[in-house]
Amino acid sequence: MSELNANSSWMESPEDGNIMLELIRNKDWSQTSLGEPEHWPRSLKVGLDIILHSGYPMFIWWGPDLIMFHNDAYLPVLGQKHPDALGQSAREVWAEVWGQIGGVVENVFRGEEFHARDLLMYLGRKGFMEETYWTFSYSPFRDDNGAIGGLFCACNEESAKIQQQRRLSCIKDISSLSARYRELPALGEATIKVLEKNARDIQFSALYLRRDDGLKFDLVAGSKIMGSAETFPAELQPLVGEGDEDCMIDHLQKSRQIVIADDLEQVLEEVRHEDGKPINSVAMVPLLKPGQQEVTGLLLCGLSPYLEMDDEYKNYLTLTAAQISTAIADVRSFEKERKKEIALARSEKRFREMADNVPLIIWVTDKTGRCTYINKQWGIYSGQSESMWKDFGWLEAVHPEDLEEVKTNFQYATETRTPYTQNYRLKDRAGNFYWHVDSGLPNFDENYQFVGFIGAVFNIHEQKVAEEQLKEKEEKLRLAAAATNLGTWDYYPLDGILQWSDICKEIFGIPVREDMTYEKFLDALHEEDRERTDLKVRAALQGTEHYDIEYRVVRRTDGKERWIRATGQSYLNDKNEAYRFIGTAQDITDRKLAEEQKDDFLRIAGHELRTPLTSIAGYLGLLQRMIGEQEKTRPFLDKCLQSTLKMRSLITDFLDISKVERGELSFKMETANFSAIVKDTIDNMDLAATRHVLDLHLEPDLYIYGDEERLEQVVVNLLSNAQKYSPKGQTIKVQLSGSKGRIFFRIQDQGIGMQQKEVEKIFNKFYRAASGSKVKGMGLGLYIVKKIIDYHNGEIRVQTVPGKGTQFTVEFPEIEPS
Ligand code: ADP
Repeated sequence: MSELNANSSWMESPEDGNIMLELIRNKDWSQTSLGEPEHWPRSLKVGLDIILHSGYPMFIWWGPDLIMFHNDAYLPVLGQKHPDALGQSAREVWAEVWGQIGGVVENVFRGEEFHARDLLMYLGRKGFMEETYWTFSYSPFRDDNGAIGGLFCACNEESAKIQQQRRLSCIKDISSLSARYRELPALGEATIKVLEKNARDIQFSALYLRRDDGLKFDLVAGSKIMGSAETFPAELQPLVGEGDEDCMIDHLQKSRQIVIADDLEQVLEEVRHEDGKPINSVAMVPLLKPGQQEVTGLLLCGLSPYLEMDDEYKNYLTLTAAQISTAIADVRSFEKERKKEIALARSEKRFREMADNVPLIIWVTDKTGRCTYINKQWGIYSGQSESMWKDFGWLEAVHPEDLEEVKTNFQYATETRTPYTQNYRLKDRAGNFYWHVDSGLPNFDENYQFVGFIGAVFNIHEQKVAEEQLKEKEEKLRLAAAATNLGTWDYYPLDGILQWSDICKEIFGIPVREDMTYEKFLDALHEEDRERTDLKVRAALQGTEHYDIEYRVVRRTDGKERWIRATGQSYLNDKNEAYRFIGTAQDITDRKLAEEQKDDFLRIAGHELRTPLTSIAGYLGLLQRMIGEQEKTRPFLDKCLQSTLKMRSLITDFLDISKVERGELSFKMETANFSAIVKDTIDNMDLAATRHVLDLHLEPDLYIYGDEERLEQVVVNLLSNAQKYSPKGQTIKVQLSGSKGRIFFRIQDQGIGMQQKEVEKIFNKFYRAASGSKVKGMGLGLYIVKKIIDYHNGEIRVQTVPGKGTQFTVEFPEIEPS
C-alpha cells in the first residue's frame, strides 16, 4: 500500500514467491476486456495491491464480465481451476454454483452487501463435485468514479470444521450407546440408526460380526439402501466365491486396515445419493477387539460421492469402528456377566433344592458373618421363620450357657476365615435343648475372594449323652476297681491304642511303665488259651457277644501261671465298628484252685458213694419184688428206693460235672433212634407220681448220631424240670418232629416260668433261677444237658413267661438210619 498512484510500481517490484502477482504481471491482458494494466482504474490497482498481499483468501471480480482476480490464499479454493481462472469470468469459472450465487452477485452490483456463514457449496475444483462449506462476505467495489465497478470478497473455507463437528458428534453418539443397550442386536440397530443420521459421510451401513468359529461374518444390523430394494446379505465369508466383498474381507482380515472399493457402479447399480448421484465406493472397516489385533467384525459403509477419501475421512471411519468395537465389547462383557449371574442364580437354586432335601441343617453366611440362608430343616427343627433366623437371629436358639462361646468362636472364624467346629445345644420348637455339632468352612468365589461361610449342623445328642454316661461309668468303674483290686483296660481298636491300669499290668506281670498293645496282651496268654481268647475278643468287638472269659496268663515277672477273669463291653459307631472296648480283669487263680479242689473232692466222694448206693438200690429193688404189692411196708420201701435213685442221679451229675471240667465226659457215638429213646425214657419215668397230664406227639423213627445214654439224660432232665417247676395236675406237652434234616424236640409246661434276664444263665453251673428257689435242686442238670447237646452239634432254646410256663426246644441234625 506504499504507492497508491496509477502508475504504482506494484506490478514491477520484485515479490518472490507471490504466485498470483507473478501471474498477473505476466499475463497478456491486451486480449481481455480490461486491456493493459496501465489503463486499469486506480481503485482496481489499489484493491489488487491489498488482496495480493493478504494471507487471507480474497478475490475481486471486476467489471460487468466479473473478471477474476485472487490471491495465493484463494488458490486451494480454486483447485484445478487454477491457473486458468485468472482473468476469466467468474460466471464461467463457477458455473456449477452460479445458480446459487448469481443472484447475490447481481445484488452486490446494485450496492447490497452479502454475508454467508458455513454455506454449503458443491464445488468442482477437484475433478468431482465436492461438498464444501464457506463463510464469506461479498461487498461492492467502487471504481475511480465512485460507481460499483466490481465485487470484493474475503472468504474462508469451513469444510474441515463442519465435517469434523458432525463426525465427532456421530462418534460421541455411538459411544453413549453401550450404556443404554444391553443386547447385541439392539445395540447393532441403534448404531446403524446413529450412522444414518450422518448420511453426508455414510450413505448406508451394515454391521457384521464374526462367528465364534471365525469363518463367516453374520449381519447384525443394516441401514436402508437408498434407491435400492436390495438388502444386505445375511452373511459374508472370505475366499468363498469371487465377489468383491469376499476378496475385501480377506484383505481386511490380513491388513486390519480400512479397505476401500471404488468403481462399484455395476455392483451397486441402483444405489444412489439422495440427490440421485450414484454411489460407487464402499469402505469395509475392521472392528478390532479393543486393545487387540483380532478382527471381530466389520462395518460396511457406502461412501459419499461428494467427499474425497482423505485422512480425515479415513480417521473418522476408523474411530467410528473403534467406538462400535468398544460398545460391542461392553455389551458382550455385560452379557457374559449376566450369563454368569444367571448361572450363579441357577446353581444357587440347585444348591438350595439339594440342601432343603438333606436331613441336616445347612447354613450360609456372608463375609460379615450374617446368616443369609438356612435350609428347611432348620425351620422344621427350631420353628424359626426366615425373618427370625436372618442375620444373627438364629443365635436366639442357642443355649444361654453356650451362647458366649458360640459367638466368640464364630466371630473369630469369620475374621480369620478359618474352618469352624463347635458343639453346643440348640433349642427345638418345643423348647427342648439338644446337643449339636456345627461345622463351617470359609467359602471363596472364583477370584479367591472370601464370601462367607457354608456349614452344616448335626444332632449329636445321643452320642453326647452316651459319652457322658460312659464317663460316669468309667469313673465308677475306676473307683470300684481300685477298691477291689480289679484291673481295668481300655482299648481303641480303630487307633490301635490299648490302655491298662497299673493293677491290670500287675496282674499280668508286666512292668507298670511299659506301654501295652493288643499283641503284647495275646503274647502274655497261656498258649492253650490264646486263640480262644482272641476269637472271643473279636466277637465282642463285632458287638455280637458280651465279653466274659476266663484264661490263663504266664506272668513275665515270675513265669507263674495265673487264672484271669476278664469282662468287657464294646461301643460301636454309626458304621458298626467298635471304636472303644472297655472292661476289667481280675486274678481268679485262688478261686480256680478252690474249685479244682472241690471238683476233686466231689469226684472222689461221688465215686466212693456211688458204689454202695448202687448196691442199696439193687437190694431195695429185690426187696420190693419180694414183698409184693399188698404189703403195708411197701410204700416205705418204694420211698426208700426213690430216694436212693434220686441220690444216685445226683451223684452221677456230680461225677459228670467233674468229667466235663476235666474234658473227660465220654460219649459212645452210634446211629440211634431218637424217637425210641424219647419214648422209652418217658415210659420208664414215674410221671404218675406227680399226677401231671402228658400230651405226647412223637414222630417215630427220627435218627440221630449220638450217645443213647447221654441223650436219655437230656430227656430225663428236661422232663423232670417240667415236672418240678409246674404245679401238679398240669399238662406237659412233649413234641418230637423232623423237618428239613433237623429234629425238633419240645417240652412245654404250664409252670412258674422265669424272668427273661435269667434265661441265659440257667445253663451255667450251679445257677438257679429265683422263681424256682422253693423247689429243691442243685443247678447242675441244664449245665450238663447243654454240654451233651453241644457235643451232638445241637442247640437248645428257651421261651418262658413268668407264671405262665416254659418251653425248651432242642434241635439236632437228623441222619438216615444205617
Ligand atoms: P435244678 O437242679 O435247679 O433244677 P437245672 O440246671 O436243671 O437245676 O435248672 C436250672 C434252673 O433253671 C432251675 O433252678 C430253675 O430255676 C430253672 N428251670 C429249669 N427248668 C425250668 C422249668 N421248666 N420251669 C421253670 N424254671 C426252670
